[in-house]
Order: sequence, then C-alpha cells, then structure tokens
Amino acid sequence: MLSAVSDGWAMTSGLMSAAWVQATAALLMLLLLVSMVRHGLLRSRASTTRSESDSPERPLVDKEQDLRAMFDQSCAAVMLLDRASRAPIYANQTALAAFGAHSPEQLAGRIMGCADAWPDEPFSLSDFERRLDQVRASGNQPFEWLALPAGGIPTWLEVSLSLVQYGGKAALMFTGLNITPLKNAERADRLRQKAMASMARDSVLSVTLDQLAAIVEIAIPGAHCAIMVHDDETDMLRLGGGKSVPPEFREGLGLVPVEFGAAGCGTAAYIQGSVVSHDIRADQRWERFRRCAELAGFRACWSEPMFGSGNVLLGTFDVYHTAPWTPGNEDIDRLTGPLHLAGLTIERHRGKIALDNMVMSEQMVRRISTDLLTVDPHETDQAISRTCSELGEHFQAQRVVLCQLDTAGENLHLTHEWADSTEQLLAQQAVEHFPLSETALQALFGDQSKLVVSGKGERPSSSDGVSELLPLDGNQSLLLAAVSRQGRIAGFLGVVRSSTTTAWTSRRIQTVELMASLLSSAITRKDLVNSLTFQAVRDQLTGLYNRHKLEEILSQEVARCLRYSSVFSVIIFDLDHFKSVNDRFGHNGGDAVLSSIARIVEANVRETEIAGRWGGEEFLMVLPETTLDSALQLAERLRSNVEAHQFPIPQQVTVSIGVASFASGDTPKKIVQRADAALYAAKEAGRNRVMSSL
Ligand code: GH3
Ligand code: MG
Ligand code: MG
Repeated sequence: MLSAVSDGWAMTSGLMSAAWVQATAALLMLLLLVSMVRHGLLRSRASTTRSESDSPERPLVDKEQDLRAMFDQSCAAVMLLDRASRAPIYANQTALAAFGAHSPEQLAGRIMGCADAWPDEPFSLSDFERRLDQVRASGNQPFEWLALPAGGIPTWLEVSLSLVQYGGKAALMFTGLNITPLKNAERADRLRQKAMASMARDSVLSVTLDQLAAIVEIAIPGAHCAIMVHDDETDMLRLGGGKSVPPEFREGLGLVPVEFGAAGCGTAAYIQGSVVSHDIRADQRWERFRRCAELAGFRACWSEPMFGSGNVLLGTFDVYHTAPWTPGNEDIDRLTGPLHLAGLTIERHRGKIALDNMVMSEQMVRRISTDLLTVDPHETDQAISRTCSELGEHFQAQRVVLCQLDTAGENLHLTHEWADSTEQLLAQQAVEHFPLSETALQALFGDQSKLVVSGKGERPSSSDGVSELLPLDGNQSLLLAAVSRQGRIAGFLGVVRSSTTTAWTSRRIQTVELMASLLSSAITRKDLVNSLTFQAVRDQLTGLYNRHKLEEILSQEVARCLRYSSVFSVIIFDLDHFKSVNDRFGHNGGDAVLSSIARIVEANVRETEIAGRWGGEEFLMVLPETTLDSALQLAERLRSNVEAHQFPIPQQVTVSIGVASFASGDTPKKIVQRADAALYAAKEAGRNRVMSSL
C-alpha cells in the first residue's frame, strides 16, 4: 500500500512540467476560493458573530462537500488541522503522501504528535508545531518545508498556513505546493558544480563519484546509485562511488568479475551494453548476487557500462530501486550527463595513476641501475638481493628469483630470492638447485630473451623444468628473463605475480628484461674481478697459491705465533728426479704430473691449511696450529699417496719432504730454510722420504 502511494508520487513528481502546471492551477483555485470565502459567499454567516467579524478568520463551512472535492483533486498538499489540538481534520491525497500516511486516521494517530515518526533533520515535529504557532502571532508567511516521510520520497513544499473556521471549529489550513523539481534542480546543479571542481582538483576518486551518484539520485526519484570502477589488472569491478548503497550491499558485492551473470554491472560490462533487471528476484543474471541485493532491499537494477578512449572499459553506472522498475526515456536523459562525467573522472584518474606508476617505475629503474653499476664487485650479491626485493615490491609480486647455471652448465642454482609475506622462500623449502642444463635452458628460451609461463596450464612444453622449479598455482604467472654471462645464457630472473589479463604488460616485461641485463653485467663484472683476484694469488699451471701469496701467509703466521705463542708447521717437498720425467715425456708430460700433484695436495689439506707452488717442481704447505708430529703425519700421508698415485705417465713419481715447526727466533725465511734443509737431507738419505728439522 505504502509503495503504491510512493509510486504514484514518483510518477507525479517525475512529470516535472505537468506537476508545475497542475500545482499552479490548484493554487490559483485555492486562492480564488479563499478570496470568495472572504468577500462573498461566507459573509452572511460571518456577520452573525461579532467576534468572528473582527478577526481575519473566515468560516469555511459552506459548500464543504464541494471544497473537499476540490481539495481532493488538487495536486497541492492541503490539510486542515484543529487549531487547539493540532489534530488533522482533513488531508488530501497529496498531503497524506507528503507526510507518509495512507489514510487520514494514520496521519492523525501515528504521525501528527508522534515525534518518532518525524526525522530529526532538517525539520522535526517541534519545528512543524512552531510553524503552526507562528501563524497565530504573525499571520501567513510562506516558508519552504522538506517533508521526509519514513520510507517515502522526500518532498519539498512551499507552505502557506492560514487561520480558518471549519465545521464550526477554529482550524488551521495548510497548503503546500510541491517545489521538489525546482529544489532538486538547484541541488543537482550545486552538486554538479562540486563534482566538476573535484574533478579539476583531482580529488579522491570516490568523492567525485559519490557526488555524481547523488545527482542521479536526485533526478530519478527513489534511485540508489552505485558507480563501479573497472580494474584493468584484475579485470574486476569494485564499488567506486555511491553513498546511498547500504554497507551490506557493498560487502556482499565485493569484487565483481566482468562476466555474463555477474549481477547487472558484470553483465553490462561483459556485453558492453545496458542491462535492465525489472525485478531482480526473477532475473537469472542476478542468481549469484541475489542474496546481497535482497539484504540491501534492492528489487530493480539498471546498469550502464562506461567506456573511455579506445573503447576501454572504465566501469558501470548502476541505478537500483527498492521496487520493480524499468527506466523510461526521461531517466535515460537524466543519467546521460552524470554517466559521461563519471567516465571522464575515472579516465582522468587512471591517467594520473598511470603517470605516477611510470614515474615510480623510472625511479626504481634508476635506483637499481645505479646500485648494480656502481656496487663494489665483492658486494654484488647483496646488490642482487636488493634488486630482487625492489622489483618484487614494485610489481607487488609474490616471488622474485635469480637462478644461475653452475660452472659445469649442468644444474641451475637458486642463488637469490625474495618472497612476499604470503609465500615461503624456496630455500626454506630446501629447494637449492634444479636439473636444468645449459642446453635445456637454451631450448627453453629459444631465440627469445623472455618467456611467460602461466599457472593455468598454458605453458610451453619446454618449460617443464621450470614448473618443477617454481611451482605456480592456477592464479599465478611467471615472467622469465634470460641472464647471460660473458655472452652465454647463464640463468634467468623470474618474477611471479597474480595472473590477470594485464599481469605482464609490455612495459613491465621491458622493465624485467632491463633488470635481467643489468644483473648480467653486474655478474659479469663480479666474475672478472674474481678472476683477476684469483690470478693475482694463484699459480697458473696448478691453480694452487703462488709464491707471493705463500710468503704473505708465512708472514701472517709468524706474526700470529709471536703474538699468541701458538705454533704452526711448514712442509716443503720436491719431486724426485723430475728432470727425467721431462726428458722422457717432454715438458707437457712434466706439466701434467705437476697438475696431478696439485690435486693430491688439495685432497690432503683441510680448509685452514694452505698449499702453494713454491717454484719449479717444489711445493710448500703452511699448517696453522699444527705441531711437528701432526705435520709429519700429514707429510707421510702425502708422500705415500704420491707414491701410490697413477700419474698420466707410465713412470712412478715420488717426492722428498722436509718438515719444520715454528721455533723462537724464526722468521718466514728462516723456517722455510730449515724445512728446506730437512728436504735436502731427505734427498741425501735416498729420496721418497720425510725428514724434519730439529
Ligand atoms: P732431484 O731428485 O734431485 O730433485 O732431481 P731433479 O731431476 O728433480 O732435479 P731438480 O730438482 O734440480 O730439477 C728440477 C727440474 O724441474 C728442472 C726443470 O726442467 C723442471 N721444471 C721446473 N719447473 C717446471 C715446469 O714448470 N714444468 C716442467 N715440465 N718442468 C719443470
Ligand atoms: Mg728442485
Ligand atoms: Mg727435483
């Protein structure tokens, strides 16, 4: 019943110009009537009572039936109230609707005098009563009044109050002209100006969209508007504006996919056209979201998609009603302007975000390039870790990894990684390396320098090794950018993000590729510095430390022993009859023997022990914290290992060894001389033996 009244009112106020004409005609009629009452028709009765003839009041009892019939016809709100009790004596349909009643009894019993049935703002029951009292004191002064019937449509009235006699009683006549269209037009205009100003200021998107939604709510009575904004990244719609949408609807709707059957907005965005659901309850497209519409009390929905330049989907403008409803042509006109403004606002906002992102991306690239290109090569690893986390955070990625081939080109090692708070580091899952060889890696990339692997199963068959390497769920996609080392593929930089239609825009791909090439040059630079450092301290033929490095270590050990009164030992050995090896098998044969000796030495020393080539076919070992006895044991093991070793030449090779331990007064030179003397003694004693300096 109530909704039927509301609908009737909606129709009346909807026909703006017709309402004006009717309202004006009614008022004229009313004024005519009042003037007739004053000057003629009711004079004879008025003259009968002396007190009444002195007052401006005129009895309104004659032609009561006709009057009521006229008032009933009027589209102005007309109400007669008992002056003493303020109880309504009569109210026409328009007045009943404006006060949210559907019968005069309801108006009398549940609204007049019932403060709870009135809003607090802008006008309450006491405001109304004050107005009624004022007319007695200061006569009729028209005023504007916003009637806010509970559950009904707000109506602006221009009210006149006059003191009359009705049915022999002192009464108050209330007449209200519906000026809602005028007030709404003024409000909409103010809101439009505010929205334009917010747009120009680049205010928070929701502020402008809220204002545009409110404009349509004013123009289309009973409408609740929501503006959904499309997110390119996720291809989802989310509520961007519309304050009158209840919070439960906002929560229930959440993120709406661009799909047929995803409420009005998702469907409209999907079909790229209007979607009208006259009754949501009977509309299949609302099946998934019907519960949330019911909670919000929405029965009808009209969704219009918004597109920007290049036909890019920007969002949808949704108009909801609490009763079954279909928009008319005038509603389309009312929506058009705000819809275009909302589209412009979203497009402008997007442009700003894109620009901000571009600036941030460029700043990040500049930071990382400076870091990687200027880092101390010994700190390259830390710079790579920083790069991984910067990249991960910038792209809101879930994981960033750097995998590099080992020197043999057989396995791919996870050397650096970063993961967001939702993912566990692969290293913590005991993942270290993967059986992906250089050949497999080359096949994986082909002639490309990048590759996108989707978790949805759309993956190149050659990427099997990678899927084992980086497990992706169905919602993730991985971008791999090749990392090279001295011109050869040497691994990849991998970034895992949530898989969406635009997860890997060409710009993002370019950025990751640029990062991969920066990492390649940082790694190459580190390799180069490492190899130079290596060469500076190593013997070229055997790879052991060279004499220069051995002398440095000897000095350090002597200094340490002097300071802490500790001990260290030195082993020096020389190949026996090495000339004959060279003579029989040539210089290359001799070199091969020297290299084999170096490998035997390496196999016999611990990490703290240092072995190097002292010169020609002489080798020296420095054994920190080692007593003479322990050094002799090691020397003996070494001697027997050499004796037993199968060299690449058909000749037995043996060594003579001299051992010395640090003694007071030793200098680096002296301790070596003593070991050398022991070696000489071993030679003298018949070779292939160990002697110590006493
Ligand atoms: P001894 O048992 O007395 O040590 O006899 P030996 O033949 O080893 O005599 P000596 O130590 O004097 O000879 C060193 C030889 O080692 C001489 C030189 O030709 C050879 N030699 C030194 N450096 C290299 C090298 O880098 N490569 C090769 N192939 N031979 C070297
Ligand atoms: Mg020698
Ligand atoms: Mg020799």
